[in-house]
Amino acid sequence: MIDLVNAQERLSRVINLTVLVISLAITILIPLGYYLVASKYESGQLMRQADHAAEVISKIIYASPNTWKLQEPRLLDFLESTHKRNSRVRLAIVTTKNKIIITVGGIPEFPVMALQSRLSDGATTVGWIKASVSLRPLLFQVLLVFLGSFALAVAVNIVLRTLPFAALERAMESLAESGVLLKKEIVAKDEAYAELEGLNKIIHYKSLHDELTALPNRSYFLQELSTSVNCAVEKGENVGVLLIDLNRFKIINDTLGHQMGDEVLISVSKRFINKLADSNFLARLGGDEYAVILLDSSFALAQELAETLTALLRPHIVIDGYHLNVPASIGVSQFPEHGSTPSQLLRHADIAMYQAKRSGQPYCWYQSEIDNNTPDQLALTAELRNAIDKKQIHLHYQPKIDLCTGTVFGVEVLARWMHPKFGEVDPDTFIKIAERTGMINALTNLVLEIALKQLSEWRANHVQLHMSINISAQNIQNIALVDYIRNVAESYDVKPEWLTLEVTESSVMYDPEQARQIISNLVQWGASIAIDDFGIGYSSLSNVKLLDINELKIDRSFVVDITDNADDHAIVKSTIELSHRLGLTVTAEGVESRESFELIKELGCDYAQGFYICEPIMSEELTQWLKSESIEKLKMI
Ligand code: C2E
Ligand code: CA
Ligand code: CA
Repeated sequence: MIDLVNAQERLSRVINLTVLVISLAITILIPLGYYLVASKYESGQLMRQADHAAEVISKIIYASPNTWKLQEPRLLDFLESTHKRNSRVRLAIVTTKNKIIITVGGIPEFPVMALQSRLSDGATTVGWIKASVSLRPLLFQVLLVFLGSFALAVAVNIVLRTLPFAALERAMESLAESGVLLKKEIVAKDEAYAELEGLNKIIHYKSLHDELTALPNRSYFLQELSTSVNCAVEKGENVGVLLIDLNRFKIINDTLGHQMGDEVLISVSKRFINKLADSNFLARLGGDEYAVILLDSSFALAQELAETLTALLRPHIVIDGYHLNVPASIGVSQFPEHGSTPSQLLRHADIAMYQAKRSGQPYCWYQSEIDNNTPDQLALTAELRNAIDKKQIHLHYQPKIDLCTGTVFGVEVLARWMHPKFGEVDPDTFIKIAERTGMINALTNLVLEIALKQLSEWRANHVQLHMSINISAQNIQNIALVDYIRNVAESYDVKPEWLTLEVTESSVMYDPEQARQIISNLVQWGASIAIDDFGIGYSSLSNVKLLDINELKIDRSFVVDITDNADDHAIVKSTIELSHRLGLTVTAEGVESRESFELIKELGCDYAQGFYICEPIMSEELTQWLKSESIEKLKMI
């Protein structure tokens, strides 16, 4: 930004200098000019007087060259008559030997201007008429002119200084005012971002920790397990997963109350924390379920840890005089023998834990024979490729309500995969497989193709819907995405203004520079960008603020319980306020009840999505739903 103070100082210096030069010029040049002109005039006068006298006297000399000096009365007469023309002048007839013959007029006062004119007898110079006059009156006039000029310079100085300075000051004031406004706006924006960032950190912490025991929660556990597995791959080590489920917890909770249940959970977690090594990552997965990651595991070490944990729960837990016996069942799985992904390892530990419960053993290892539950990842990966190639992926659309008008604003596109053998595959599962195996670009392209075709059909039938499409981390690093979307949109006559692309913070942070480029290209084209799942991202928002985003979608985990959970309420409220300060619209996901719909509307949220409004449905169902009464009911709220 321009340094206003410096600019003002520089400008005033220039003005001051200019005014000074003008004043000096007036004060010096006018008297000097006057002096030069007046002295020229004075000397002209003097010279004419001397020449006139010399001319007449030269005639006398010419008439009597030898006796002229003796004709004193005549010469004097004549000089006097000439002298009368200007009595301030002193005239003298001087011989060539500098001898004064006659003078008229007194000796002029210093300083003096003196001139001479030649006396001749027709051929030779015989003397001089010397004329002199005092310059005092002239200098006195010059002094007066000087004083006048000085006064004029002072006046000019005042005028020149006040006029531009007043204008300058006004200009500077308004500049400074707009500067202050601009600064305020920047500060306000920065503050909002800082608050949003702070909020994000709190949300991030909360999203990774269990409130009751302050232990890491399920999603933190899965992240950590993923990191541990990756490290183990590099080092060629094993990773053990122990899933611990308390056996009598439900009875304690039901008979002695939730308070007592909470106390039990806290003291169990304390026993575990006190005994476990720092390298053992302990988490509470929810309810009465805990899990531990054992690094550099082996069958013997995992077994030893399972026995230690069992032993820790052997002594009764004493609360309010109750001696409670809370044993646990532990399921153990190990990477790489029992799975290659965190969710697989955890699921297998879970199956083993149920096996332990059923058989009454304190712990059990996972055995593949007892798992006839779910498809294996390898098979799914191969079949997903096939499903994309054969376009077996279909789409569901979930309506998004404009809370201001109560009307349907648009739909979010959600991919679905109906597997011939396993049935509907969870989108989180197959999207992750697609991301991990590089199939996500092909999948996103397929989704875009089907979705934009559908959108153009709706629009052709006067169904004015907006459409939001999910974009994965790898998509937002792929520069070809922009051209692809643009081409598909053009081929179906779909306008970019009808589209929003949903990205998550973490996907943007993977390579922020590339993501920024792609996002800016999409925005320039005319599409909007939404930050999806806000609140469960892992990065700070400082980079997101550099992106051209239009919308924030609050993750459903903050909205589902919003009417009962004061923390979630506060988080959603601040997120809405801060987003509005930043010019972003806000969508609440996971609106499952009329109460939460009413509450988020009251909090000023712009859009809502969730099962209460409508579950994700097929396009034909959506057409029916749009005509149904359920929309009218929403308008009443
Ligand atoms: P998302 O983008 O957060 O999508 C919203 C998810 O919330 C959907 O799950 C939707 O069914 C679910 N949902 C909507 N309303 C409610 C509600 O009121 N309560 C609850 N509990 N859930 C609600 P879905 O369809 O299982 O999708 C899961 C995730 O898979 C999506 O989360 C998105 O991250 C990803 N995904 C789905 N389709 C695509 C796709 O085409 N491309 C990409 N890259 N990701 C996709
Ligand atoms: Ca989404
Ligand atoms: Ca979401």
